[in-house]
Amino acid sequence: MKIGIIGTGYVGLPTGVGLAELGNEVICVDREPKKIEALQAGKITLYEEGLEELFHKNAKAGRIRFTTSMKEGVENADIVIIAVGTPPHPVTKEADMKYIHAAATELAEYLQGYTVVATKSTVPVGTGDDVEALIAKKNPFADFDVVSLPEFLREGFAVHDFFHPDRIVVGANTEKARNVIKKLYEPFEGKTQMLFVKRRSSETIKYASNAFLAIKIHYINEMADFCEKTGADIIEVAKGMGLDSRIGPKFLNPGPGYGGSCFPKDTMAMSYMARQNDVEMTLINAAISGNVKRKQQMAIRILEAVKGIEKPKIAILGLAFKNGTDDCRESPAMEIVYNLLENNANIIAYDPKAMGTACQLIGDKIGYADDMYACIKDADVLAILTEWNEFKDLDLAKAAYLMRHKIIIDCRNLLDAEKAVANGFKYQGIGKKTEKRDNHLREVA
Ligand code: NAD
Repeated sequence: MKIGIIGTGYVGLPTGVGLAELGNEVICVDREPKKIEALQAGKITLYEEGLEELFHKNAKAGRIRFTTSMKEGVENADIVIIAVGTPPHPVTKEADMKYIHAAATELAEYLQGYTVVATKSTVPVGTGDDVEALIAKKNPFADFDVVSLPEFLREGFAVHDFFHPDRIVVGANTEKARNVIKKLYEPFEGKTQMLFVKRRSSETIKYASNAFLAIKIHYINEMADFCEKTGADIIEVAKGMGLDSRIGPKFLNPGPGYGGSCFPKDTMAMSYMARQNDVEMTLINAAISGNVKRKQQMAIRILEAVKGIEKPKIAILGLAFKNGTDDCRESPAMEIVYNLLENNANIIAYDPKAMGTACQLIGDKIGYADDMYACIKDADVLAILTEWNEFKDLDLAKAAYLMRHKIIIDCRNLLDAEKAVANGFKYQGIGKKTEKRDNHLREVA
């Protein structure tokens, strides 16, 4: 099939490459000339495991091309996929539709023959109707249907998730459009669940899913706080909970709060939509405010650890919002760094993939190290903020030798607490019993 993709970011690019790999003819359109020039020159513009190889393979085979021309991407396409950003509105925090509206208006005049316009961006319920109206207004003779095709890929696993989706949700209001999308996803038939629903249901499924996952993370973080006070161990508690098939083990890792380009903005957008429709969503609102507080609490925890040390040097391992990506948008690590900087902290950081993206956001306000040992050298505290696998292999004896004070705040529970203590570290993970409470328990006994 011939497919035009509007927006060549974290969703558009892996989707385009994946669809090309399945044998389709793909043209990716982006309004950023620099991005397109790089891609045309064979330079990948973002990090996702396995993407670069597939990108080169399909570009070489001529199955995927890149352009800034909307005309080129849209004319002759059987399906036009909209994958532009829907960031939070700076004031209301609702999903800002300016890029969606612009894309719909820009693409309208180039539609030729029957075309399915599929919205992959995460968009508020009713957006399909708006996109339909915008296209019809600009091009009254266009023969098209608008479908909702929400994206569920996880950043860091985008290529894997493209080829092994948990489910494919399609919100289509006409049989004709449903058949076109069925043909697109033919290679997945029998391998995954395909759910055809009303367009408005599909738009809602995406927000309902992301908000639910954010609430799950917030819940386990609150439970971790409870464990710290009571002497229970959150890892054991989460394991015990996760064995219940109604709960499941995923998204029960306590940490510094959720982040990334989706959960924070999608929870706020869902909350806004609920308010607009006079529906009270107390759980989502609690997760939003609790998550903001969480990152402040982690910054306080780090500052408390170096209290009394003159001009402490804080080593940060991890800047990306999670492992497997270079994306720092709404990263808890970055929020914590900003918070520490407000307290005049002296910070040096290392991240295996996100140094470039972090530097674009924060510049020279912090120092950047070439590897984790250079990062912790002469540091007074080490804070682990992203769950990169390589941090698990930190040589604790070497770390103890390199650091000025032996203090670790492990916001991802990556290190072995006992080993850290055995190497002379004062170690604090998340959701594990504190010394103070232990004493209290002993007193009672
Ligand atoms: P992104 O910012 O990485 O990419 C969006 C791209 O669209 C940018 O390159 C931008 O230049 C381009 N663009 C904007 N307007 C355009 C126009 N009129 N014509 C051509 N190009 C245009 O965003 P993203 O992370 O890929 O997210 C895209 C959408 O997918 C969002 O709605 C997001 O919520 C949703 N989503 C993202 C993820 C994720 O993991 N990032 C997962 C699921 C859903």
